[in-house]
Amino acid sequence: MHGFETLAIHAGQEPDPVTGAVVPPIYQVSTYKQDGVGGLRGKELGDAARWIDGYEYSRTANPTRGALEECLLALEGGARCLAFASGMAASDCLLRALCRPGDHVLIPLDAYGGTFRLFDKVLQGWNVSYQPVQMSDPAAVRAALAERQARLVWVETPTNPLLGIADLAVLAELVHEAGALLVVDNTFASPYLQQPIALGADAVVHSTTKYIGGHSDVVGGAVVVADPELGARLAFLQNATGAVGGAFDAWLTLRGAKTLGVRMDRHCQNAQRIAEMLASHPDVSEVFYPGLPSHLGHEIAAKQMRGFGGMVSFRARGGPAEALALCGRTRLFTLGESLGGVESLIEHPGRMTHASTAGSALEVPADLVRLSVGIETCDDLIEDLRMALAGAGQG
Ligand SMILES: *Cc1c(COP(=O)(O)O)cnc(C)c1O
Repeated sequence: MHGFETLAIHAGQEPDPVTGAVVPPIYQVSTYKQDGVGGLRGKELGDAARWIDGYEYSRTANPTRGALEECLLALEGGARCLAFASGMAASDCLLRALCRPGDHVLIPLDAYGGTFRLFDKVLQGWNVSYQPVQMSDPAAVRAALAERQARLVWVETPTNPLLGIADLAVLAELVHEAGALLVVDNTFASPYLQQPIALGADAVVHSTTKYIGGHSDVVGGAVVVADPELGARLAFLQNATGAVGGAFDAWLTLRGAKTLGVRMDRHCQNAQRIAEMLASHPDVSEVFYPGLPSHLGHEIAAKQMRGFGGMVSFRARGGPAEALALCGRTRLFTLGESLGGVESLIEHPGRMTHASTAGSALEVPADLVRLSVGIETCDDLIEDLRMALAGAGQG
């Protein structure tokens, strides 16, 4: 078995059998010539065509998308991967494959705002109910599962935006004992830092828009499942409902995935230094970063992750107004939603990414600022934050 970086560069990416191109071409095509009715081509493309009987129509399968799926499957480990037009499309398809009206799911107490919105505003309308639970507390999860049969438990670790850590091996065991499935949104960690299926998860969801794409130039998503039968159901549903990304999007994402390992190493290094600087800064009241020994989930994160990731959140001592002002004062940290790109971003979750959680159990503190720490020169990033924090009180 090859190492992570080798798989990222080679899995699903055999040189093109026709031309020898070392990178999978962008198959910008909707339909494929058949050699007689039902005589589909494509088997010769090797790994990328492993799951299909040949190419017929690009909603069903496309060689560039197939190469991306093969690569992500190798990186996460599992039975099957499907790539989607966005992280939300991936989540939606997985939930429709698993849940029926009347089903109940447990969701995290803090989670990506769009995921909460999907459960709260969309799936509830189809009579799938949800209950928010503190996933860092296995006893709370066990109690909620004992109270009511759940179809699945949806977990993020680290969470967005509070960087909470859930013990995946412990959760997998108690979720399975309760006859439910464990789904992990692995967007924040990326497969380089954490591989939930190896820890017992049944399915992994990604917004590949974030670290896997890594360059803030493409939106995409993926699901990786441990059970091939579930994989086949998902493939059916993906084709039936159609939330596939285009070939160019798959190609950009695959290009990003090749450097995931080196980028994540640098994201982790920079984030650690920035979290330490913030933790000792007088204008910061609390820092959320699993790499800090003071973080509640530090030991579990150290056990199940290769590094602590590139996301850091903190509370402004000056309160909500100061948190908002800070977001406008940085020069290198760009004010914007999203995360996981090479460039650093800053945002105010309460007003931006997590506005949909206002008034719910998932509401985030109004003095919270979230950083997606990029891979720029770390001294420059620290200087930018110091300068923005020094503006505190100056209006
Ligand atoms: C961004 C994000 C999503 C949604 O992904 P899109 O690609 O924006 O649809 C889901 N989960 C997490 C943790 C995210 O950060």
